[in-house]
Parts: sequence; structure tokens; C-alpha cells
Amino acid sequence: MVLRMKATARILNGIEIAAQIKAEVAEQARALAAGGITPGLAVVLVGHVAASEIYVRSKVKTCAELGMFSEMLTPPESVATEELLELIAGLNARDEIDGILIQLPLPAHVDTRRLLEAVSPEKDVDGFHPINVGRLQSSASHGVEAGTALAPCTPAGIMEILKRSGVPVAGQHAVVLGRSEIVGKPVAMMLLNASATVTVCHSKTVEIGRYTRDADILVAAIGRPGFVTPEMVKPGATLVDVGINRLTSLDEVERLFPGDKKRFDQFVQRGSTLVGDIHPAAFALAGAYTPVPGGVGALTIAMLMKNTVQAAKARRGAALLCEAGAGRSEEAAAKA
Ligand code: NAP
Repeated sequence: MVLRMKATARILNGIEIAAQIKAEVAEQARALAAGGITPGLAVVLVGHVAASEIYVRSKVKTCAELGMFSEMLTPPESVATEELLELIAGLNARDEIDGILIQLPLPAHVDTRRLLEAVSPEKDVDGFHPINVGRLQSSASHGVEAGTALAPCTPAGIMEILKRSGVPVAGQHAVVLGRSEIVGKPVAMMLLNASATVTVCHSKTVEIGRYTRDADILVAAIGRPGFVTPEMVKPGATLVDVGINRLTSLDEVERLFPGDKKRFDQFVQRGSTLVGDIHPAAFALAGAYTPVPGGVGALTIAMLMKNTVQAAKARRGAALLCEAGAGRSEEAAAKA
């Protein structure tokens, strides 16, 4: 008689990993504070987009929890690009501001690209400035790890999940669905830097399944609910679900979560539920996977905090070390 054991996929818990990272960041912030430096983040929020307001509040709250300083700037919806450029120039010039984040999306009349490029690369904690994009590309396998580049938060969070969960990357075939500037392209570059063999698929890719079925690591970042179905997945693969899709139709909930009473009740109670780009049934085939919610999404703010402390150390920590060094030399001279 052959006994068939159903393997249970390992859940890669983003909430736990984010908590570890935040604890490390708080420790580093304490060390900097001992030297008189409080890492500072400025968040620019234009107009009133409900989702953006929620994200920004959460970022400001996390700064306070980790012993960091934050400042929120809220220009009105009607603000002109030139005015925003002046505001950014002011933040670039202020020593106590280590990180500048421009909450996206901006109103259609604002020149987003010009603004992102106006942020000093040393304070670009979102990692969107062309200098940091270039540094990421040329950093091979060591630059980001060594803290010489500010990398975009969501892709950097994905790499932390893989690393801290012991998922091997070198030599693996990683398939990335999506080629956006904020997720798909940078995560593909990071996986390549970590020595994976990388395939990037997008909306013009013909028959995506032939690539995904060969993926040891599959990163889905396309914003299409439950797009990756079980037959598109290699058994035992690591599935990283970046998609955050809010379902508001009962038909969709029943299609993606048939018989899932907990989801159904949640939907009835809240009027919506979240699903990723990977069909929930595909997770049963995986070796490991990130859930939605509680996976990749949980890491983004933690990585923003990490970048802010890193930016503070890179820009102001060196001065601190020099001062400490100078202090020690003066002491030695006085003793001599
Ligand atoms: P985006 O800018 O809209 O880019 C979507 C990408 O997916 C594009 O490259 C597009 O291809 C590709 N795509 C769309 N439909 C496709 C299809 N049917 N087949 C294959 N490729 C397709 O999205 P994004 O900002 O990268 O975000 C992607 C998802 O991740 C969203 O659900 C978003 O909410 C989520 N997200 C989560 C976090 C987080 O967890 N913190 C952060 C950012 C984004 P083309 O380039 O050919 O158009």
C-alpha cells in the first residue's frame, strides 16, 4: 500500500519578519540617539486620497514607535509642481531630515518624475531616484546588503522575507510577473544580484504559464486577483504574492474562496476582502508562500524605517564617528 502524504506549505509570515526588522531599526535609532542623532523622516502628502492618508498615518506612527522623528507636509491638491520643488529643496537642505518620501500617486497635473528626481539621492528612502536605481543595478551582490544603496521598500522587503526564511535564491529560477518601476523591475534586479536566474513576464508575454511552471521562486506583482492558478505553479515552489486587490463582489469572493466560511463572513461584515495575485488554491502546491494580507505588505513600512536609519547613518553617522575620533585624540593629547 502506498501512503500519500500531503505536504503542507510553509507560510512566510511577513508580520513576524517586519517585527524583527523594526526591533533592529529601533536598536540602531537608540545607538544614533546616544550620539545626539535622531533619524528624521519627512512625508509629503498632497491633497486628500483616503488610502494615502492611511498609509502616511501608519508611517508617522511607526517612526514614533521606533524612536525616530517624522514630519508630515500636506500641500493642497491644487499645489503646482514648482511649489513642490521648492518644498523638496527646503527638505534637502535641512540637516535633521534624513529621509524624504513623496506619497504617490500625486494629482495628474503634478510632474511626478521631476519631483522624484529633485529628492537628494542621500535622502531618497523610497529608492526611486535614478542615482539609486543605477546603484542598485551596479551593486552586484554586495551593494544593497552593504548599505551603499537605498533600495525600494517593497522589493527589499521581499528579499528580506526570502533571506530570513532561509529560502535559497542563488541558482534558482525566479520568475517575476510585472515590470513596474516600484516592484517588478527592482525585485528582478535584486534577485539577479542574489544570483538567481531571472525571467520577467508582463502583459505582452505570450502564455505566461510556460514560464511560471518552471519557477522555483514565483513573484507575482500585477494587480490581478487570483491570476496565478494552481496549474501555473511548480509543486514545491516558493510563491511570493505582492498583489493587494480589494474584492467587493460576492461572485468574485465565491470564485476565489469557494467554501471558505471565514472569508465569506469577513466579506459580509466589512463589504470587502483582500486577495493577492495568486489564486488561494495554488498555495496548497507551494513549498512556501507569503499570505495576503500578512505577507509582503507587512514589510514595506519596516523597510522604509530601515532605509531612513541607513540614510541617517550614511549621511550623519560618519560625522559622528569623526567627532568621536577627534574627541578621543584630544583626550589622548591632554593625557600626553
Ligand atoms: P503596476 O504599476 O500597475 O504594474 C503592473 C504590472 O503588471 C505591469 O508591468 C503590467 O504589464 C503587468 N500586468 C498587468 N496585467 C497583466 C497580465 N494580465 N498578465 C501579465 N502581466 C500583467 O502595479 P505595481 O505598482 O507594480 O503593483 C502590482 C501589485 O502589487 C498591485 O496589486 C499593488 O497593489 C501591489 N503592491 C503591493 C505593495 C505592498 O505590498 N506593499 C507595494 C506595491 C504594490 P505591462 O508593463 O506590460 O503593462
